[in-house]
Amino acid sequence: MPVNVAIIGSGPAGFYAAAALIDSGEDVCIDVIERLPTPFGLIRGGVAADHQTTKNISKKFDKTALMDQVRFYGNVEVGREISLSDLREMYDAVVLAQGAPVDRTLNIPGADKPGVFGAAAFVGWYNAHPDFGNLNPNLDVQAAAVIGVGNVAIDVARLLSRSDKGLAVTDLPDYAETAMSRSPIKDVYLFGRRGPLDAKFTNVELREFGELSQCVPQVKTDQLPDGVGDLEGREKRLKERNLETLRQFSERQPDEKPNRVHFEFFASPSEILGTDKVEGIRLERTRVEGGRAIGTGEFFDVACGLVVSAIGYRGIPLEGAPFDERSGIIPNDDGRIEDGLYAAGWIKRGPSGVISTNRPDGVTAAGHIHNEYASGAIGGKPGREALEPFLRERNIRFVSYSDWKTIEAAEINNADAGRPRKKFVTIQEMLDVIDNT
Ligand code: NAP
Repeated sequence: MPVNVAIIGSGPAGFYAAAALIDSGEDVCIDVIERLPTPFGLIRGGVAADHQTTKNISKKFDKTALMDQVRFYGNVEVGREISLSDLREMYDAVVLAQGAPVDRTLNIPGADKPGVFGAAAFVGWYNAHPDFGNLNPNLDVQAAAVIGVGNVAIDVARLLSRSDKGLAVTDLPDYAETAMSRSPIKDVYLFGRRGPLDAKFTNVELREFGELSQCVPQVKTDQLPDGVGDLEGREKRLKERNLETLRQFSERQPDEKPNRVHFEFFASPSEILGTDKVEGIRLERTRVEGGRAIGTGEFFDVACGLVVSAIGYRGIPLEGAPFDERSGIIPNDDGRIEDGLYAAGWIKRGPSGVISTNRPDGVTAAGHIHNEYASGAIGGKPGREALEPFLRERNIRFVSYSDWKTIEAAEINNADAGRPRKKFVTIQEMLDVIDNT
């Protein structure tokens, strides 16, 4: 009898776990259970629309999904249509790989004003995520502020700074492309509460700002340190590269291009300004001591009509699994929660790293499952033989991998020339395509 494994979530962590289980040589039967009808998590819904090559990793996951041992059950939300305890009764092992889907809270006065968005929502909106298709942010503003200097903040700032030409080859949904290409935004501000050496963005992503056709990067020379201090090794090289790029940006002239993206360091947001919507942001100047941003008591205001808070993501609790509210992850011992229950990816270790950082998590989870099966601690459960009747008896409309391929083919078919696909935004549209094909 195979080891029956359910993986919750079909993003990189889920698919790397599936691939690792197959590679382990164990006789496995893997069911990937996904809330949306579409697979690949942040590859589809998070990676920026103008970074299509990054999305190519989905081809690798596609191969895994098409293997005999694997089945996809999309449009099934664990915690709603089926509980974790139901799944644990059916499967020898359950791997939690549902990611970190919500924004860390921006805890400052005015953060609830219209015109303030978390990056999870804003990125989901421009990536046609069904949860955020109706977000409708007003981009008819002159200036936008992005809080945070990680790669998500960089993505948002870059897309807000792109020209029509840059957007025309993406898979942005029409509503987002129209709003972005018509937007009169002239100035985008990126606010880092600490200094340039503390920024989390990576150099390839940073350098892209130097090559935008309509937008020039601006950096204040007096915010740049002379060197990277006593850093060593890889960290030293990475920070030196960023510093060098920021130095080059500091020499660029503000009138070189019609629009500007301003990197503003040592600036901690303290209040969102405006009467009935965002009209600006107040920031406190900081200095960095022992790696922490310390307020100096000096404040300044920047006028803007849109604020996107890109200060990191967090996981959400799932009934039946432990949860650490402070860190927003599931407490685990290197991916093991208890016999039969494991975690991989952002819900295991928090929202950090690149796509391939999730790979070792999959390998570790597969190793735990292998060991526990070998020791007799897990095994003997029916897996999908129990899942499918459960779903059918409750009329739960699940989407198979071949259904997803139908959705995908329609998206590719509907795309204008030069674009990879035209994404469906609502779940109903996706189900209709399956029904009508
Ligand atoms: P991140 O890298 O952790 O960056 C979060 C940023 O928000 C940091 O600059 C942080 O500053 C700041 N921040 C946190 N709390 C704040 C507060 N209260 N006030 C002001 N600033 C605050 O997170 P992320 O940008 O969401 O990215 C998540 C992961 O996805 C990262 O590993 C990232 O590299 C990855 N990613 C990669 C790509 C790519 O490779 N192209 C694209 C997107 C995302 P402090 O450092 O001071 O806390």
